[in-house]
Amino acid sequence: MDFELTADQRGIQGLTRELAEAEIVPNATSWDRSHRFPDELYPKLAELGLMGACIPEEYGGAGADFLSYILVLEELSRADAGVGVTVAVHTSATTLPILTFGTDEQKSRFVPPLARGEQLGAFALTESGSGSDAGSLRTVAEQEGEEWVITGSKQWITNGSRAGTFVLFARTDPATAGARGISCFVLSAEHVRVTREEEKLGLNSSTTSDLAIEGARAGRDRLLHEEGRGFRIAMATLDGGRIGIAAQALGIAQAAYDVARRYAHEREQFGRRIGDFQAIQWKLADMATEIDAARLLTYRAAWLKQEGRPHTAEGAKAKLYASEMARRQTAEAIQILGGYGYTKEFPVERFYRDAKITEIYEGTSEIQRLVIARSILGRQAREEPVVQT
Ligand SMILES: Cc1cc2nc3c(=O)[nH]c(=O)nc-3n(C[C@H](O)[C@H](O)[C@H](O)COP(=O)(O)OP(=O)(O)OC[C@H]3O[C@@H](n4cnc5c(N)ncnc54)[C@H](O)[C@@H]3O)c2cc1C
Repeated sequence: MDFELTADQRGIQGLTRELAEAEIVPNATSWDRSHRFPDELYPKLAELGLMGACIPEEYGGAGADFLSYILVLEELSRADAGVGVTVAVHTSATTLPILTFGTDEQKSRFVPPLARGEQLGAFALTESGSGSDAGSLRTVAEQEGEEWVITGSKQWITNGSRAGTFVLFARTDPATAGARGISCFVLSAEHVRVTREEEKLGLNSSTTSDLAIEGARAGRDRLLHEEGRGFRIAMATLDGGRIGIAAQALGIAQAAYDVARRYAHEREQFGRRIGDFQAIQWKLADMATEIDAARLLTYRAAWLKQEGRPHTAEGAKAKLYASEMARRQTAEAIQILGGYGYTKEFPVERFYRDAKITEIYEGTSEIQRLVIARSILGRQAREEPVVQT
């Protein structure tokens, strides 16, 4: 067992950290307060290959491994979790499924503009009536000659208002209820209309949009993989995507720890630094331990994925633990800063707001437990309907 990152992995980690410290950290508070999507940032990430970190060079990516991509997400999220989710959805939820399930023609047509960062990607599964129970989605795709005509709506789509390419799920077989009648399409911005921009608790530098698909016409060349295989594509995509959300949670928790540790050195009460009190020492010790545990779970899941080994339960465990840890430990960071932690003078209140979503998207914590239980109990745990996003 080798716990060392390779030279290449350390290189991309250092490169991302440098860029984050120069371009993201100084602006993150202002983007959060003004709810601004930093359009100008993504070409800079693209220049360094970070919009396609784990995409092969022949398709316009940087050709790094999946763990390198996870390190990129961790570093970006440490600076600004909104930037982290923008890149996560763009890469593991949009570019990777096209690369994995696309034909040669689809891969060479759709992947390079995404991997080079010329376009942003979005993953459109959720609808107003179908979240965890993604198999009950109602958007339909009907065949008319050589085309599909797609009609429906999608809710809370990250990058929805900025994306050029959408991986979108629709029901192609209305007679088949549930997961089996769903197919996956690669659509472009002209196929969808943004109907609403969501107001959120956090992640204010990312966009979360509702979409209408109003009789969009898509040629057969836009069907990803086979008809009726959409749900499997969604689940396989989320298996990997969850490792990215674990990295996002890890980055947020690390950022909160960094601030809390510095503060414990500086703040004095009762004539002593608060870090001299055992109560504060124990909080920092717990934070450091839990962050370490989350990091090991996350890197292991990433390694399994890049080795082509099963990683469904391991990814779910990483996301479950890292997200709950981030929510817990960002709250503890506020506690260490006392009243200052609750104010906007320090960024820990932002970290606390940003951490919460990691327990919800790409499968809630309840759904992660279901996935893990199924890996333990097999059919016995399958009384529940087929669920998970
Ligand atoms: C900021 C943001 C960004 C998002 N980005 C995207 C995106 O880019 N693309 C996309 O497709 N979606 C996106 N989503 C949607 C997200 O994936 C869903 O919100 C999530 O899957 C949960 O679905 P839901 O909100 O409908 O909750 P519900 O499914 O309605 O769940 C409500 C509660 O019931 C629990 N529950 C549900 N089913 C079960 C069960 N079987 N067993 C136990 N408990 C259960 C849940 O855990 C939760 O606590 C985003 C959401 C947000 C808020």
